[in-house]
Parts: sequence; structure tokens; C-alpha cells
Amino acid sequence: MRILFAASECFPLIKTGGLADVVGSLPPVLGAQGCDVRVLLPGYPAVIGALGKTEPVRAIKTLFGGPAVIRSAEAGALSLLVLDAPHLFDRPGGLYSDDDAVDWPDNYLRFAALSRIAAVVGSGGLGDWRPDIVHCHDWQTGLAPVYLSQRGRSAAATVFTIHNIAYQGAFPPAIMPEIDLPPTEFTPARLEFYGLVSFLKAGLVAADKITTVSPSYAREIRTAEFGHGLDGVLNARAGDLAGILNGIDETVWDPQSDPMLTARFSAQQLSRRNTNREALQESFGLKRDRDALLFAVVSRLADQKGLDILLDVLPLIVGRGGQFVLLGSGDPSLERAYRATAARHPGRVGVHIGYDEPLSHLVYGGADAIVIPSRFEPCGLTQLYALRYGTVPIVARTGGLGDTVIDANAAAIQARTPTGLQFAPVTAEALGFALERAFELHADKTVWRMLQRRGMSQDVGWSRSAERYINLYRSLIEADAD
Ligand code: ADP
Repeated sequence: MRILFAASECFPLIKTGGLADVVGSLPPVLGAQGCDVRVLLPGYPAVIGALGKTEPVRAIKTLFGGPAVIRSAEAGALSLLVLDAPHLFDRPGGLYSDDDAVDWPDNYLRFAALSRIAAVVGSGGLGDWRPDIVHCHDWQTGLAPVYLSQRGRSAAATVFTIHNIAYQGAFPPAIMPEIDLPPTEFTPARLEFYGLVSFLKAGLVAADKITTVSPSYAREIRTAEFGHGLDGVLNARAGDLAGILNGIDETVWDPQSDPMLTARFSAQQLSRRNTNREALQESFGLKRDRDALLFAVVSRLADQKGLDILLDVLPLIVGRGGQFVLLGSGDPSLERAYRATAARHPGRVGVHIGYDEPLSHLVYGGADAIVIPSRFEPCGLTQLYALRYGTVPIVARTGGLGDTVIDANAAAIQARTPTGLQFAPVTAEALGFALERAFELHADKTVWRMLQRRGMSQDVGWSRSAERYINLYRSLIEADAD
């Protein structure tokens, strides 16, 4: 089975969030299960620079305003197709916006181009490598199923995965001719969404199958509360929508071999985590305190993540003798607020504003608990890394967080099954109760060790979910053959 992944990010080449981790880690697992997967990515400078040798496999005279070349390359276990189109992707700054966080004005062209090339490859444009399935990820590739549907029956079948329904890629209708789509596509049944062209909606109406990244989120997005206006569209396609849980790359995220940890450890060597804890305390300027319960956050600072309510309960952590570290960046007002809180609690609260992959590993390997108070969370990867590293996750009961963490209630403790703590609703009060509960559980070393060990033994890898994707691909290929 040949699968083309089309996405705007892929770890380790280019990453702003969980999407990159998924696109970088699922294909090798699908590969090990017999699929031939290639990942189509934009040729950002970081991608072209990291690859070194690439092989041009198809030249395109003009792609929305300039020439382009599709290049193939290998990167570790990944087979890549890179869309080298300098007029669209060769620029300094971020993936989606400039250094001042202003969206690139031509984002509609950049990601229409990526989608267009996915459709070219998906309809046999590379000659010898013709995919059975084009698997698109998030709004940046939402137009691919639309372009493919214009190419007739011989084109590949399509799967569209929603990693976050809040990001929709909506643009004014005047772009339609520029992205080479006819006015007939600008209707409520197709791409029109409250007067704008929605790339996300394009994927939802035009793909053969839709998935999202956890079973709970698959239900939640069909409600007005979580659907961000697209619940109606998703209800109309409920029979084609499935929730498949994300997994993690267990070769990168392994506490027994992780080179970014100060001390490596297994579930039987949890006291070795103390060395990581000390390194973490030192790098965040915290007091070296062996007994303090150390809470952590690794996150984008965005409204979704609920980190404003966490600010309200930090005094509770400090008041009970705990410590807190945050590694994150994003919303400038949250960055300021966390910096100010750290200044108010020297030695107890440490904040690192920025994106730092190695430091994130040390946080997972050294903190006692990770706090994830998201208002909504499609899957969430940070709680999965935490589970793997013996850091107890304290999570809002929403989306994939609720699907992956077993709450330490009395029945679960008696059954020896819990892996973390859940709370609801997402309020400072409910989070405060969860933190109080964490202090109580931590005071009983046997219970806390059980939480850590249960978490570490949980299967958070890809194998089961990869099998579900393969079954989905297979069902499409068989339907096509009928
Ligand atoms: P989202 O995709 O919404 O940002 P996820 O939990 O799915 O949330 O994935 C977040 C990913 O980004 C994880 O791999 C996490 O470790 C990483 N991450 C987030 N913020 C930072 C940061 N400041 N430094 C390093 N890694 C980060």
C-alpha cells in the first residue's frame, strides 16, 4: 500500500507543535507494518538546509506565481518529498507568520500550493510512485481532496485528519480564482464558511474519510461547544469520522536511552530521576529542595491551554512548599504574567520563555507532575511523554487527555490502575482541588510510585493506532475496487 502524507510540519525537520511529532513518527511505524509512505513537506529553509542531498523528481514551470521543483530525500526513517518553491517558502521567520507573529499575507497561496502538489502526486504525477491514499493533515492541506476530486476517478482516495479544529485557514472569497478553483466550489455545501473560504472545511467536505486524534475529541467536535462552527458539517459526515489516538515515537522518547537527560532510568530505577530533578532545579534557578513536589508545564501559551487559570493557583503550590517550572512561548500577555509570577516567588517558581526541545526532555525526566489544564485538547502529546517518563499527569478531563490518563480515584487506587489525575470543569477551583489531591497522593510514597510505574507501563506507542489507520486505508482501497 502506498500512502502520501501531506503536512506543513514534520519532526525532526520542522516543528511548532504536536502535528510535527505525529507526522514524523507515524510513517516509520506504518512502514514497519508494510506500507510505503512518503511525506510531502514545504521546502522551508530549515527543511532544505537539514536535508543536504535531494533529488529533483519533477519540475513545475509555474505554481501560483513562480517555478517549483518536487525533490525527494531521505531523513532517518522518513522518505520525503519536498516542495521547493522559493517564492512561497524561502524566507526567514516562522512557518505561518513573520517574526512579529503577523500571518504571512500569502498563506492561502503557500498552502494551496502544497495541497495542489499533493493532488499532482496523488493522481500519478510522479510516474513510478503513485499513491493509493493521500493522507492530509490539518487546514494547510485541506484543499488537496478538492484538487484531487477534479482529477477524476483514477486519483488516490483521501483521508483528512483534524489535529486541531480551532485552526481553520479562512480567507476572503476573492482568492478563489488565484488558487484556481471555480465559483461552484464557493457554496455552503463546499468551501464557503460564513462568507469566507475555509481550507479546513474543504478537507471535511471533500475527503473520503475524516479522522481526528482521539475518540473523545471525535465526539466533542460534533457539538456546538467544541465544533468551532463545523459541528454541523461533521454531523453530516458522522459515518465517515473516526477518532484514532495519537502515539509517540518510542525511540526518541525513551527514558532508558534519552541522551538529553542528565540521568537515564527505568521504572525500577525511579530514584535516578532525582539527578534530573536537580539539573532541572538548577537550570530554572530553583532552590535545590529534595522534598518539594515539583510541578511543570511544557506548552504553547495559547488560550486553548488554560494556563491563565493555572496562574491563579500557583500560590497554592508555593504555599504548600511545592515548586513550579514552565517552558513555553506564545501569547505575550501570558509570557509577561508568568515572568512576573516567577519574580514574585524566587527559588520556587522558574519560567523559561522560548522553545527548547532538549530542555523539554529534562522537564519530563525530572519533574514530579505535569499540569495540563486545557480548555480543549484534541489528543495532547505532553501527557503521553510524561507517562513514559514517570511524571504524573494532572489533566483537564477533555478530548485525548481524558482518553489517556486514568484518574487516581479511590476505586482506581484500590484496583491499582491509576496513572494520573483528572479534573473538571476547567476552573481555578477544580484545578486547585486536583493540586491538593496531588499533594495528598505524593505524601504516600507507595501510592505515588504506583502512579509513576502504572504510567510508565502504559502503551503509548503507535502500534495499535497504526493498525487502525491501515484498516481505514484498506477499506478505502477495497471500496474503490468495487
Ligand atoms: P499542541 O500541538 O497543541 O501544541 P501537543 O501536546 O499535541 O500540543 O504537542 C506539543 C508538542 O510541542 C510536544 O512535543 C511538546 O513537548 C512540545 N512543546 C511545546 N512547547 C514547547 C517548548 N516551549 N519547548 C519545547 N517543546 C515544546
